[in-house]
Amino acid sequence: MRGRRARGTKPEVDLRRAVHQLGLRFRLQRKVASRCTADFVLPRYNVSVFVDECFRHGCPVHGPKTFRGPNSSLWEAKIETNKERDRRNTAAAEDSG
Ligand SMILES: [Zn+2]
Repeated sequence: MRGRRARGTKPEVDLRRAVHQLGLRFRLQRKVASRCTADFVLPRYNVSVFVDECFRHGCPVHGPKTFRGPNSSLWEAKIETNKERDRRNTAAAEDSG
């Protein structure tokens, strides 16, 4: 499994459409720092957007609270890895302005 989320997911497309309807212009899949690509950016506002799906990114509201079954520890480790990457990406995007 590569450490890259799927592109063009439904939540992402919905969000882009809403942003577009507000009259804001964006660019897709922009590398904003080394090893850090935003789902889309709003160049005019220096905003990078990462659409993190609740389940796989361990959302505190909608993400899974516990895992059961033979792969539970694998899932926990995977989501923890995703969350670490999310934090790294946020920091990298902030550092790059
Ligand atoms: Zn959520």
